Amino acid sequence: MSSLEFVTRSPEETIAVARGLARRLPAGPVLLIGNLGAGKTTFVKGVAAELLGLPERDVSSPTFALIHEYGEPVRLYHLDLYRLETAGEVLGIGIEEMMDRPWPMLVEWGERFPNLWPRETPTIRIERIGEAQRRIHVEGIPQ
Ligand code: ADP
Ligand code: MG
Repeated sequence: MSSLEFVTRSPEETIAVARGLARRLPAGPVLLIGNLGAGKTTFVKGVAAELLGLPERDVSSPTFALIHEYGEPVRLYHLDLYRLETAGEVLGIGIEEMMDRPWPMLVEWGERFPNLWPRETPTIRIERIGEAQRRIHVEGIPQ
């Protein structure tokens, strides 16, 4: 398992980093960790562009929907658990079934429910280090 670090200076650079990692993401949950506005959803735009050829505008925060499914047929899940408060609520939206699917499940705010994820769940942490600068730390993605 690798640990990788990137520094980006624009949303476009974050999308490029995400594109570069997209095909290495394993099936199942990957936690996207970072404050509001860090760039988690921007990262998903890069993954969806690389895996599915989706235009950036088709990827938005599932803050209210909770889950976005991308691809026809579905090949990528994108969750935002910001509005959920308990692990029971998260289980209630069907994450166990989603975790068993053979494609990646990118989860924003999933670290708030640590007991729900398998022990070696990969993490992508995005830290705002300047107006348009971000540090992206990737842990647990297979080589
Ligand atoms: P989150 O999902 O973490 O709340 P978003 O991806 O929705 O964050 O928003 C990130 C915001 O930060 C966007 O407005 C984006 O344009 C801006 N931004 C500025 N610089 C960067 C960068 N280097 N990487 C990603 N986003 C950036
Ligand atoms: Mg978001």
